Amino acid sequence: MQFEACPDCGLDTATNADADLPRALTDVAARWGGTLATTDVADLRRRPAPDVWSPLEYACHTRDVLAIFEERIHRTATTPGQQLGWWDHDAAVVDSRYNEQEPVLVAEAMAANARRFGQALADLAPAQWDAEAERRPGERFTIRGMARFVLHEMVHHHRDAEQQLEATSVERPTTRGAPFGRPEIEPAT
Ligand SMILES: [Zn+2]
Repeated sequence: MQFEACPDCGLDTATNADADLPRALTDVAARWGGTLATTDVADLRRRPAPDVWSPLEYACHTRDVLAIFEERIHRTATTPGQQLGWWDHDAAVVDSRYNEQEPVLVAEAMAANARRFGQALADLAPAQWDAEAERRPGERFTIRGMARFVLHEMVHHHRDAEQQLEATSVERPTTRGAPFGRPEIEPAT
C-alpha cells in the first residue's frame, strides 16, 4: 500500500503532498495518543481473537514501524539501491512483549518517533524522495513510497484498534467511556 487508496480505511496517500507528510504523521500519532490515554488498559490488552493483535499490540507495532522506516529512509537516502532486509514484525510482538507495555509510554514513544520520522522527511533533498531500495528481491520501494506506507500503517492500525474498542465497549459498557464522539452507553445496573 503506497500510492493507491485503501479499500478498508479509505486513506488515499496519493492525495498527500510530500511536504504535508510530517504534519499528517504527527496528527495520527496524536489521535493514537488520545486512544491510549483514555482507554482502560485491560481493554487495550484484549485480543478479540487469539490470532488478532490487541489495540496495544497494534500501537506498539505502529511505534516500531516509525523507527524501522526512519532508519530505512536514512540508509536509502545515503546509499540508494541497497537491500534493506526483512523486519519480522510478528516476532517483535512476542520478543518485545508488546501486550505488557505501558500505554502512556507507548504513546509518548510513538509521538517522538513520528516527529523524528517527519523531520527525516523534511530534511530530504528533493531528488532523494526518488531514491530506491529493495526490501526483498524484487520488492522495490522509493523513499516517497516508504513514507506513504508508514502513514497508511499508522492510520489503518488506529482504525483497527478503534473498531476493536468500539466492539468491546458494547460488550462491556461499564468499563469504557465514549471519547471521540462515540455514543455514550448507560452503565449496566
Ligand atoms: Zn488502510
